[in-house]
Amino acid sequence: MYLKELTLKGFKSFASSTTLRFEPGITAVVGPNGSGKSNIVDALTWVMGEQGAKNLRGTSMEDVIFAGSASRPALGRAQVSLTIDNTDRTLDIDYTEVTISRTIFRNGGSEYAINGAPCRLLDIQELLSDTGLGAQMHVIVGQGRLDQILHATPAGHRAFIEEAAGILKHRRRKERALRKLAATEANLARLDDLLGEIR
Ligand code: ATP
Repeated sequence: MYLKELTLKGFKSFASSTTLRFEPGITAVVGPNGSGKSNIVDALTWVMGEQGAKNLRGTSMEDVIFAGSASRPALGRAQVSLTIDNTDRTLDIDYTEVTISRTIFRNGGSEYAINGAPCRLLDIQELLSDTGLGAQMHVIVGQGRLDQILHATPAGHRAFIEEAAGILKHRRRKERALRKLAATEANLARLDDLLGEIR
């Protein structure tokens, strides 16, 4: 598995559709300060489901949409697509190439898709879990992140280890199951009340 292609359209400083193609091995992105190198890394994190505007160096999620420049008006939406080579079937899906996309609209709302088919954020998170990829994964080490790891609390260190060990997916599933259980218990209690009233 390797990242094959990243397309940004209306994402941060990339107003026009821009596609970066990567080969297996090491890719270096070079450019002057402020030319958009970190925006490319932000796009990678964002398309993989990042939900925190702060982690994308903004204050609200809409900050990822091209805000306009002297020569171009602001845009109404941002879209990022990431194509992953899946010849080795690391991703548990029967395609040799998998494209995940995310779109956000300035007037609210967002969309996710896997190979063009609309899906939920959860589907993308589940697809990428256990692969080392994902918005919160150790695979993306941004500026200042090493400092964060070095100065993390013991609980923080544990979270990094859990990520690497692939426990995160099960923790998320457990949390979802516990939420469902609590809702079911509340429904049962309500049912008991109603039965008590009828009797
Ligand atoms: P450095 O080498 O200094 O870290 P960089 O190449 O990583 O720089 P980025 O931080 O990726 O640069 O890009 C910063 C640029 O992106 C700034 O010029 C900023 O104005 C622009 N930018 C960020 N968000 C938006 C947006 N929503 N709309 C338009 N431009 C944006």
